[in-house]
This record gives sequence, structure tokens and C-alpha cells, in this order.
Amino acid sequence: MADKTRESCLICQIVANKVPSHKVYEDDLTLAVLDVNGANPGHCFVIPKNHYPIIEQVPDQELANLFGVANKISSSIFENLKAQGTNIFVANGIPAGQTVAHFVINVIPRKENDGINLQWKPKQLTQEEMSTVELKLKEQIENIGVGKIEPIEGSKTLSGPVQAGTQPISEDDEDEDYISRQMNRIP
Ligand SMILES: [Zn+2]
Repeated sequence: MADKTRESCLICQIVANKVPSHKVYEDDLTLAVLDVNGANPGHCFVIPKNHYPIIEQVPDQELANLFGVANKISSSIFENLKAQGTNIFVANGIPAGQTVAHFVINVIPRKENDGINLQWKPKQLTQEEMSTVELKLKEQIENIGVGKIEPIEGSKTLSGPVQAGTQPISEDDEDEDYISRQMNRIP
């Protein structure tokens, strides 16, 4: 990303210590700070030090590190703030509520009846609608090569329905189209 983008990015300013923040964790790739306008005391942002507007742009290994840190912060929130639950979530794109063009993971401490509402009204789909959506998603996921996730050296191979290495890395036009479509969502 161009330096100009970083200069105008609030999160990059925090990473560069140009904007003061309350840091709860830092390593080479990742920073976690308290959200000054948090939903509850202890609401943290886990952020990549590199500037990535949306999750699709974050390299897999950095993403793994980010979510690992989010998990540790969640544990600390349980232990030290006596939370009864945490929400760990990402607002990815403007319609999803993303307001800053730098990927962040929110870790929000939760207690019963704390007034935070992350609920939605379930939508009932017909079997046909479900099958159509299932098919579309499967195709798309194959095109973007989810299977290219490589395990970090020394770690165990990813398990689950999507096996590492089952899909070849494709650098074709469909990937390009996919990325350019995602760019429209960046705040
Ligand atoms: Zn940034």
C-alpha cells in the first residue's frame, strides 16, 4: 500500500505511535489496543501492523497470528475482567459496519444483560434457495483457492472439510476480478 494511504489511516497512526493508545499486546505483526469508544470496558482492537483494508488482503499467516492474539486477549478478558462471554468479530466492508479502512478484529467482553445487541431475525429460506446459495458459495470458494492455505512451519496441517493443498494456487483473471470487486467495499 502507498505511504499516502498509511498517513491518512488512523490505525496506521496508532501503530506508528503518532496517535496515543492503550496497548495491551504487541509483537512484530500484531498490535492490540483498547477501543476508546468500546462497547464495554476491555473492548479491544486486534490489528495487523501492516495496512490491509479488508480481510481478503491479509496473508494467511498474519491472519492466523491475529486470531491467535484475539483468542489470548479473550482469555485474559475472562480471567481478569470476570467476563461471562466474549464476542470476537470483524466488520468486513462498509455494509457490514466497517468504518476505518484498516482490518481490525473486535474482542468485546460480555456479561448477561449488558445491553449489547448483536442479534438478528432469522430468515427462512426454501430448500431451493438454500441449494442455490450452497452451490454458488462452493464454486466461488474453489475459484479463490481457499485450499492454498499453507500450514505455518512446525504446526499441524489444517483439518476439516477444506484440506490444505487440495486446490492449486490460481493466479488467473477470476482472482483479479474477485479482488477488484472486493475493493468497492473498502471504506
Ligand atoms: Zn492502516
